[in-house]
Amino acid sequence: MIPVTKSYLPPFEDYQARLEQIWRAGWLTNNGSLVKELTGELCKYFGIKQLELVANGTLALQLAIKALNLTGEIITTPFTYVATATSIVWEGCTPVFVDIDESSFCINSELIEKAITERTTGIMATHVYGNPCDVETIKKIARKYSLKVIYDAAHCFGVKIDGQSILLHGDISTLSFHATKLFHTAEGGAIVCRDEKISKHISLMKKFGHHGEDRYLEVGINAKMSELHAAMGLCVLPKVDEIIVSRRNCAEYYNKLLDGAGLGRQHIPAGVEYNYGYYPVLFPDHERMMRVRQALIDNGIMPRRYFYPSLNTLPFLSSHGQRPCPVSESVVKRILCLPIYFGLEHSDIEQICKIILNP
Ligand SMILES: *Cc1c(COP(=O)(O)O)cnc(C)c1O
Repeated sequence: MIPVTKSYLPPFEDYQARLEQIWRAGWLTNNGSLVKELTGELCKYFGIKQLELVANGTLALQLAIKALNLTGEIITTPFTYVATATSIVWEGCTPVFVDIDESSFCINSELIEKAITERTTGIMATHVYGNPCDVETIKKIARKYSLKVIYDAAHCFGVKIDGQSILLHGDISTLSFHATKLFHTAEGGAIVCRDEKISKHISLMKKFGHHGEDRYLEVGINAKMSELHAAMGLCVLPKVDEIIVSRRNCAEYYNKLLDGAGLGRQHIPAGVEYNYGYYPVLFPDHERMMRVRQALIDNGIMPRRYFYPSLNTLPFLSSHGQRPCPVSESVVKRILCLPIYFGLEHSDIEQICKIILNP
């Protein structure tokens, strides 16, 4: 069986050594030394000053909405993982879906202004498959209408734009370190916010609003990362550059073998240092995609319809009557993410491409 992705597992001895460290300290959670160490290492890796580790990427989105006091309507994309939009609803806000751009698969910045109403307080956009949104246009719109910007950067580990981490854009960027992501802590996530006051506030909110020995300053939640999860992150991080290179090799081999197959690709703009977290291909029509998908499954290869469905079509996310998002609704019918992970063999890619070319 060839899955769409495989979690990178570090050498067992590396994790064991970290476990011994935890046992010696006798400390399992509550901002332990491994969480502190991982925080520092990640800041160094991204070239940023501060970051808050959390228990998962969904809590990171929810805390971001809370920390920026967003209410009313939040403009978002229908072409993302369901957690982006459900976090908005979970926080008592209304997602307003704006269609995507056909070539970047990210929110179409040209359509954002038309969706703004007097109830709009923010924009929450996903850098889809790690491809940056049109951050400059979104910044201008946000300034003009005094809106906050959250980027769901769950796919963006290591992505740079003009030599700088993509995480520096927007008021807040969130990361997911779920087992299926390029860098992972089994379950985990992080919040990046340049504003020190907001970052400190998030640090308080993620531990029940508990301050010092016995003071509780406000309503918080439990979103802390444990030492066991941080230990995994500390073992994976030293390998992450190697993981990205291996994925790039896979992507380049796919590109070569699928050249001339009539498949659409996501356009990655110049100036973007990409991480090869996903390998999406866009078929000319739904029928061909489904035929290829079935042929792959019949051969034990598990591609994924990532993302499907278009979130504006889910009734519980569009209760106030969403307008259609024709581009997103068309892309979800035709897109397939092919297997890509550290350790995927060239011979596997050859087999996959043979089936795609001749389902
Ligand atoms: C994985 C993912 C999430 C959710 O992250 P978890 O860590 O699984 O909670 C949110 N948004 C996007 C775009 C994702 O891919």
